Amino acid sequence: PRTSVLTGAASGIGKATKDLLEQRGERVIGVDIHDAEVVVDLSTAEGRAALVQEAGRLSGGSIDAIYAVAGLAVPAPATVAVNYFGTVATLEGLRPLLAGSEAPRAVLVSSMAALLPSDGELVALLTAGDEPAAMARAEVLARDPASTGQLIYASAKLALSRWVRREAATPAWAGAGIPLNAAAPGIIATPMTADLIATPARREQLLNVVPMPLNGIAEPTVVARLLAWLNSEENTHLCGQVIYVDGGSDAVLRGDSV
Ligand code: NAD
Repeated sequence: PRTSVLTGAASGIGKATKDLLEQRGERVIGVDIHDAEVVVDLSTAEGRAALVQEAGRLSGGSIDAIYAVAGLAVPAPATVAVNYFGTVATLEGLRPLLAGSEAPRAVLVSSMAALLPSDGELVALLTAGDEPAAMARAEVLARDPASTGQLIYASAKLALSRWVRREAATPAWAGAGIPLNAAAPGIIATPMTADLIATPARREQLLNVVPMPLNGIAEPTVVARLLAWLNSEENTHLCGQVIYVDGGSDAVLRGDSV
């Protein structure tokens, strides 16, 4: 059976994905800040280093797939630390463990929020990999009453989607036989969105910004099935794709852009 390392395993999409893989007889080493086999804080350098060490130890030095799912949606610098730098560190740090697999795969969870307004300066700092400067910029945005609550989150997810586009076809990933892709969910019913979709009025307000004409707000297992396929042996040629699993938000918001 395949062995995976999956971050964000304690809740929502990560938990649904872990459950699905385990139902299918796969082994999943779950990672989270609480309630997981590997308990680490992915917002810190120490936590990221501990993840690599513990995943290596628990797997015996070889895994088949990486699921980088952990994320935060608070309008604060921590969202940048976890969603961008924590995700990149997960994928780059665990990549050597894929070397012994016959069908190595890697996937991360971005968001359709990458299509919403973002901060160009923050996106540029993330793309440059400058964590201290990106954190400082996020601090400025967090204190700016004029900036919307989603600006930091959207910027981190846009930079993450672009990271996949830039990295996937390089020698480190495609050259090593590793498909690297992203899922970009629309609104999914998880603890992250519970407040936002708690009442019909709030759901309608949110769906005005994030239209989901096909089947509306989704359960986390919808994303889990896509992630599981992207990291399965069946996926031999998807490379550097950001797959919107969003009930049509991307088709509505971006129209002719393909
Ligand atoms: P969730 O809050 O249910 O789960 C996120 C998990 O990440 C939690 O278990 C949390 O403890 C973990 N996490 C947060 N900070 C961490 C840290 N510092 N170190 C380690 N683990 C940490 O949310 P979810 O909706 O399942 O989100 C999963 C992913 O999907 C996130 O990347 C999120 O941005 C993305 N996403 C969610 C939606 C949605 O509508 N729910 C939409 C698009 C993208």
